[in-house]
Amino acid sequence: MNVGLPSFRYHPDPVTSGSIRASAQRCVCCERATGWIYTATFYTAKEVGGRFCPWCIADGSAAERFAGEFTDSYGLDGVGEDVVHEVTRRTPGFSAWQDPRWLVHCGDAAAFVGEVGYTELAAHPEALDQLRADLRMEGWRDETRRERFLTSLGGDATAMLFRCTVCGAHLAYIDAS
Ligand SMILES: [Zn+2]
Ligand SMILES: [Zn+2]
Repeated sequence: MNVGLPSFRYHPDPVTSGSIRASAQRCVCCERATGWIYTATFYTAKEVGGRFCPWCIADGSAAERFAGEFTDSYGLDGVGEDVVHEVTRRTPGFSAWQDPRWLVHCGDAAAFVGEVGYTELAAHPEALDQLRADLRMEGWRDETRRERFLTSLGGDATAMLFRCTVCGAHLAYIDAS
């Protein structure tokens, strides 16, 4: 979707994912009403008292002025410092039940697609296979139970879907209340 927003390499469609929505609210950083406002996480020790516009996220000014991060660096292993910086300080984060984490593939941070259920996941068998492997690792030995859980995704538990910025493969992790 192109609605004239700044482009975010690691979160290409923040309107569809729900992290940015149309709003008349003024940005607490630049004080402009841009028509768009950020709705998801921001971690800081400072008092913010409002929300940010996408432009103050993209140019890093919101993170710098309020000494915070949109996303924790949890999960961002094996990528360069510049990538960590771009994801945590110049990319819209997303809301999740558990502390959000960012997935990595092919040595680069992946692009966040959105929170999805089984229907959307079914279009990306490689992401489903990876979730199966993760569940097995977590001790879900019973295949029937595992598959039942996967097909129930979209209810109390959902999946956070990413797409590799290098090879295009989809990957996901499970988020639950
Ligand atoms: Zn702003
Ligand atoms: Zn890849």
